[in-house]
Amino acid sequence: MLNLLAFRKTNIHINMYRTQYRTKTCGELRLSDSGQTVTLAGWVQKIRKLGGMTFIDLRDRYGITQLVVDANAGQSLIDTANSLGREFVIQAIGEVSERQSKNPKMGTGDIEIRLDSINILNKSVTPPFTIEDETDGGDDIRAKFRYLDLRRNPLKNALMLRHKIAIEVRNYLDAQGFMEIETPYLIKSTPEGARDFVVPSRMNPGEFYALPQSPQQYKQILMVAGYDRYFQIVRCFRDEDLRADRQPEFTQIDCEMSFVEQEDVLVTFEGMMRSLFKNVLGVTIPDPLPRMTWFDAMDNYGSDKPDVRFDMKIHDISDSVKGHGFSLFDNSAYIGGICVPGISSYSRKQIDGLTEWVKRPQVGAKGLIYIKAEEDGSFKSSVDKFFSAGDLEKIAGRFGARKGDMILVLCGSDKRKVQVQLGTLRIEMGNRLGLRDPKVFAPLWIVDFPLFEWNEEENRWNAMHHPFTAPKPEQLDLYFSDKNEDIAKVCANAYDFVLNGTELGGGSIRIHDSKIQERMFSILGFTKEEAMYKFGFLINAFQYGAPPHGGLAFGFDRVCALFGGSDSIRDYIAFPKNNQGKDVMADAPSVIDDSQLDELHLVISKKQ
Ligand code: ASP
Repeated sequence: MLNLLAFRKTNIHINMYRTQYRTKTCGELRLSDSGQTVTLAGWVQKIRKLGGMTFIDLRDRYGITQLVVDANAGQSLIDTANSLGREFVIQAIGEVSERQSKNPKMGTGDIEIRLDSINILNKSVTPPFTIEDETDGGDDIRAKFRYLDLRRNPLKNALMLRHKIAIEVRNYLDAQGFMEIETPYLIKSTPEGARDFVVPSRMNPGEFYALPQSPQQYKQILMVAGYDRYFQIVRCFRDEDLRADRQPEFTQIDCEMSFVEQEDVLVTFEGMMRSLFKNVLGVTIPDPLPRMTWFDAMDNYGSDKPDVRFDMKIHDISDSVKGHGFSLFDNSAYIGGICVPGISSYSRKQIDGLTEWVKRPQVGAKGLIYIKAEEDGSFKSSVDKFFSAGDLEKIAGRFGARKGDMILVLCGSDKRKVQVQLGTLRIEMGNRLGLRDPKVFAPLWIVDFPLFEWNEEENRWNAMHHPFTAPKPEQLDLYFSDKNEDIAKVCANAYDFVLNGTELGGGSIRIHDSKIQERMFSILGFTKEEAMYKFGFLINAFQYGAPPHGGLAFGFDRVCALFGGSDSIRDYIAFPKNNQGKDVMADAPSVIDDSQLDELHLVISKKQ
């Protein structure tokens, strides 16, 4: 974790925190300050009375300092101390003194302030939960009183980490010649595959802006404008159903470069990540980072964002298990499995539980077949009827199974679907076996994505990244072919940065040639008019000398959460939305009154 004291050390010496209200902060006084008279300001964390003395823990952003009101202090000081409640804001003046009973867990634990006076700056009503590292407040109440939750160390440290990462990003990119340029929030829709948030225009009745899903088109236009290294730490908006790691508004480190090929982008941004890991966490990541093709990621890990902290790779056993009279295998196009170490002792009940788990709609498998490599060297499986001990041993050999391991097998008609199910099962088993230590970091690049994916429902091609992503230059003949099977083979000049099973970022080399762009729109089924309506300003700009360019964007909130060792980005955002997309503190979204609706030329549908 971030060492907060080290981060602030230099500042503490120059005492930049001195103001008209305080001379010191609550985190900085040490034994060597004994004898000084100081003024502190902060919030009352705790009050204790002991043998006629009153002890007050005073808290600010920098720490906690113990204040003491002596039994023989003046009556008015004693009365003021007695009138304090939790979270009152006070100013306290007194002398730094050595403590009787020291607290080695606190930086200020050797001293206390013997008070001469207390000035109540503001009172507080009793907070609805304790402002402690371990609080008694549930999620809902803490969200409603987010300003109180933000006073607690875990959230404060999370926001400090976020700030530190932002500074490091800016420093690194500035040193590499990147310029931070703001792009507008009120724009025309940018396709990133999600729904837009829209904003009605009062001055243009019946017309709407979209909030950017990303600054994609603007950053490409900046390349046309000659700003060959752009970045922006920028808010993006996507109206999607929410999951734990999604927010309707989130922040990207958005970047674009001109006169580059994929290699240049990867080298530049793994450099950025390397410097973040080093300067923020003190962690050295490999140089260069491993790269894996999308096809290898899917075949071996069943995921385009593989967690490579642990092995447990997927093996395709389709060729060796057919023809044994087991119709499920015989009728499947793909049969694959993973070998899970040390779980051959799983009971019938545990295996049944796992079978139910893979059948959940989130996984979607039809059932689960197992082969146990027992400790005594024998093999046992749920398909013993069809496979001899020798057969099972051979299959186990394909996985390199050892005594005590259990192989879990799934099958089906769609290879990629079964691989994804196995990938989900692999992550579950990794969690169960404690193989996903958040303090271990295994970053890598995923490259060579397919350019298109087939949309079964709509019977047409979708761009896997977005419609400005260039095909691999060596595959242009396939790209211009009329045959669907050729188009399916075209790989994108695209890349994702993956860390511990999470996609932290991704981008591509863009199309800058109008013939290639036109072909893209025609494969995606846009007419010329549709393309012009949606992307006209970009297409027009490209007529005036678009340089070769490419870029990527990192999910800034996710970078922060993973650096902080957490799964949830919510703790790393000062004011996040809940699962229903609501800000329960501010009560947003909320209805607006009729006059505002009129002004915006809006009528709420009766169905509401
Ligand atoms: N605009 C893309 C995204 O938001 C990133 C990129 O291609 O640069 O995912």
